[in-house]
Amino acid sequence: MICATVLEATTSAVLARLGEAAPLADLIEVRADAVPPGELDLATVLARRARPVIFTCRAAREGGLWTGTEEQRLALLKEAFERGAEWIDLEWDCELALDPGRVVVSRHDFEGTLAAHEMLASLRARSASVQKLARTVSDAKEALALLALAAREERPTIAIGMGAPGVATRLLAERSGAPWTYAAVGAPAAPGQLALDVMSRLRARRRVTRATRALGVLGKPVAHSRSPALMNAVFAAIGIDAVYTWLETEDPASVLAAAHGDPGWVGFSVTIPHKETAARACHRLAPAARATGAVNTVVRSGDEWVGHNTDALAVTTVLARSVPLEGAKVALLGAGGAARAAAWALREAGAKVTLHDRTEERGRRVASELGVAWGGPLAAARASGEERIVANATSVGMAPDVAASPVGDDAFDEKTIAFDMVYTPEETRFLELARRRGARTVSGIEMFVSQARAQLELWLGKHVAQRVSDEWLLQRVRHAS
Ligand code: NAP
Repeated sequence: MICATVLEATTSAVLARLGEAAPLADLIEVRADAVPPGELDLATVLARRARPVIFTCRAAREGGLWTGTEEQRLALLKEAFERGAEWIDLEWDCELALDPGRVVVSRHDFEGTLAAHEMLASLRARSASVQKLARTVSDAKEALALLALAAREERPTIAIGMGAPGVATRLLAERSGAPWTYAAVGAPAAPGQLALDVMSRLRARRRVTRATRALGVLGKPVAHSRSPALMNAVFAAIGIDAVYTWLETEDPASVLAAAHGDPGWVGFSVTIPHKETAARACHRLAPAARATGAVNTVVRSGDEWVGHNTDALAVTTVLARSVPLEGAKVALLGAGGAARAAAWALREAGAKVTLHDRTEERGRRVASELGVAWGGPLAAARASGEERIVANATSVGMAPDVAASPVGDDAFDEKTIAFDMVYTPEETRFLELARRRGARTVSGIEMFVSQARAQLELWLGKHVAQRVSDEWLLQRVRHAS
């Protein structure tokens, strides 16, 4: 269930938010501490509620905005209880005693210095139906640890990791027995709290339970990733009981370790800068991942994490739609993870690959490791009247630097197939220059869709992935931007 938090300074603004939240929320938290003491028209707020209400008046010592006295605060909470608010949120050290059947007992640690198990012990000591702890986390591994702790509690427990690395605790809360998760209608009430419309879109009205499977994207930074929007849309469309989250981490190995004991974690995507580290953290590697030393997909297989590289397969899948790859000439630009995947896959498909990179020492090394030719700097990749693929696997041209291209228009002619792996934006300068010279083009978004489909097949099986078309996926990726 989604609980929308309303943090407004006037009764009229609170009422407006109640109306706004009702279509998307299952219940609504009214944060009365945001309204100056004595100014909230409690009777009207409760009379106008279209959803059950959690009434909160957070004390400043717990990170709240309340400016009145403790007596005023307790009186307001008691009045809300007597007027029939469905739930009252009381801090762990609050003096007020109310019917525990309607109490959420909560504790907050914005500095992230308290131990979660000690916070839980102080919550357990209070009579309540639901307990909630919120502490700042700096890595997704701490978010998974909080979820694991909550899952072991006897009482329904909402364990929130505040900050962007904690977003998994919000998206996956009910997997650990939480009765609801919080989202913001209006200003976020805590760091990392998702907006109600975002949470609602990602959930798409699905109920998250202990049986819901979990997946996520490992990276840093990772907030820009379109994968959560895409994958959750797929799960909703085909009725898969799974939720996909962002996992911002410095240490992908520790996130894999934290998820290992929970069979509900079925897999991960891996993005910059962790593709090589993730390869070392897997128990086993599939051939493309082994050959490239880079993993962009992790899949549970029994007791093992198996690393795959779906970028490699995606490169050949999308190019083979335009040209036979056996014997094809390819000028490959770049020597990073995407270039390694492309070099390996194209060579395996029988193409003749020449690699170009800005950094000669790195380019030569990668070319030799992957058994392709070294072609010199990027500018050396010039058109020569022969049919040839020019594949950009550098990050040049990626937003925000959209005016840049790794090569000039002299790299292309009408015999060129220009392929850009950059997909933000979809229409890159590289593709524009190529088209101007009469070249055919293949965009990075086609590759993104292809590698996402391969991921779905690995996590859920081919029969599941086949239930969505490439066109549908393409529209969702565009929509997710
Ligand atoms: P990476 O490992 O960081 O490699 C980046 C490459 O770009 C290196 O070869 C680097 O050259 C080169 N480069 C960066 N800035 C440059 C500049 N200003 N001038 C010249 N060369 C420059 O990144 P990656 O993982 O390979 O990703 C590369 C691109 O592919 C990204 O845009 C990524 O989003 C995209 N990608 C797309 C898909 C998809 O599904 N469409 C999948 C994977 C990756 P040096 O060797 O000189 O550092």
